[in-house]
Amino acid sequence: MSKSDKRSNNSMFTTIYVEEKALEYPITRQLLQKYADCPVVTIRHYKDVFNRPKQHFALQKQNQSLILAVKEGQFLYKGPEVCQNFGHPNFYYTSFVLNCVFDCEYCYLQGMYPSANMVAFVNVEDFKKSMEEVLVEKQAFLAASYDTDLIAFHNIVPYVDYFYDFFRENPDLLVEIRTKSTNQSFYRNHEPLENIIIAFTLTPAEVIEKYERHTPSLEARIKAVNTAISQGFKVRICFDPIFIDPEIDHAYEPFYRYIFTRIDPGSILDVGYGFFRMSEDFFKRIEKIRSSSLLYAEDYCKDNGVISYPSHVMEKIQKEHMSILYDYIGKEKIFTL
Ligand code: SF4
Repeated sequence: MSKSDKRSNNSMFTTIYVEEKALEYPITRQLLQKYADCPVVTIRHYKDVFNRPKQHFALQKQNQSLILAVKEGQFLYKGPEVCQNFGHPNFYYTSFVLNCVFDCEYCYLQGMYPSANMVAFVNVEDFKKSMEEVLVEKQAFLAASYDTDLIAFHNIVPYVDYFYDFFRENPDLLVEIRTKSTNQSFYRNHEPLENIIIAFTLTPAEVIEKYERHTPSLEARIKAVNTAISQGFKVRICFDPIFIDPEIDHAYEPFYRYIFTRIDPGSILDVGYGFFRMSEDFFKRIEKIRSSSLLYAEDYCKDNGVISYPSHVMEKIQKEHMSILYDYIGKEKIFTL
C-alpha cells in the first residue's frame, strides 16, 4: 500500500455519523466495530449533516468525517455529456460513495457537494435491485467508481466485493472502475472478470505535484497498472484531465514516452483522453471556495454550460499529443472527448 493509500486506512475519520435507519445494516455494524475508537453520532438523515450551510470544503478535506446512510430514490443515472462513454450508448453511473479520500484541485466534487465529508451508502442490495431493473440484458456500460475512488476506499468499505458476484452473473453489464489508487493487493486478491475494466488515471508527475493532493506517485501507479495487467485484468489508461499550461505543456511528450516504456501498450484495452472541463455551475462554486487557486483564475471558454479551453487550442494540443500516442497505440483504441 502506498503512503497515500494509507489515508484510506485506519483512523482517518474524525467522526462517524450514522443515520438511524442505517444502524442495523451489516456494513454499519462492521464499520463501527472497525473504527471503535472513533466518536459516533446518530442522525436522522445524512443531508442534515452533509447539506449543512457554510461548510468549509478545504478544511473538511483535512479532517473528513464519514456518514453512513441509506440511499433512497434514484440509484442509477445516465452518464453526462462531459464524461466519456467509450462508444457505449447505454452509459450509466452509480454512486455507492459520495466524495473521495483524495483531494484533486480540479475535482468537480467540490462544486457539486456542500461538504467534503464522505457518505457511504449501506443498502447495497437496493443498488443491485435497481441495476437488475434498469441495466441487465441491456448491454449497458456502468461507471461504478463515480463521485469517488472505490479502490482507494476499498480498505474502508470493500464495495467491489459486495458486487463482484453480481457483476460476474451479469456479463452484459460492462463495469468501469476508475482509480488513482495503488492498492496492488486488490488485483492479487480478485479474479479478473471479462466485464470489469480497471481504468487508471495517469498524469505527469508535474500535474500530480501541482493538483493531485494525497494521490500516489506516478511510479506507484505504473506498478499498480502492471500488477493489474499481470493478474489478467482488462486495463484502460486515462490521460484525463489534460491541462494546457506553460508550466506543464512540456511534460506531456516525455510522460507519454515514459509510460509506454514501462507499460506494454499491447496489454492495455484502450486509452481515454480528455482536457480539463467542468460544468459552469460547479466551476463558479469552486472558484469561490478555492480563491487562491490559479487553476480557477485562468481564462477559459464556455460552451453549452461547460468550461474548458478554447477549442482551436485543444485541437492543436490534441494533434500534437496524438502524433506521439500513435507511436504506441492504434487510433481505434484511443477515445477522445
Ligand atoms: S481521485 Fe477523482 S474523485 Fe477523487 S478527488 Fe481526485 S478527481 Fe476527485
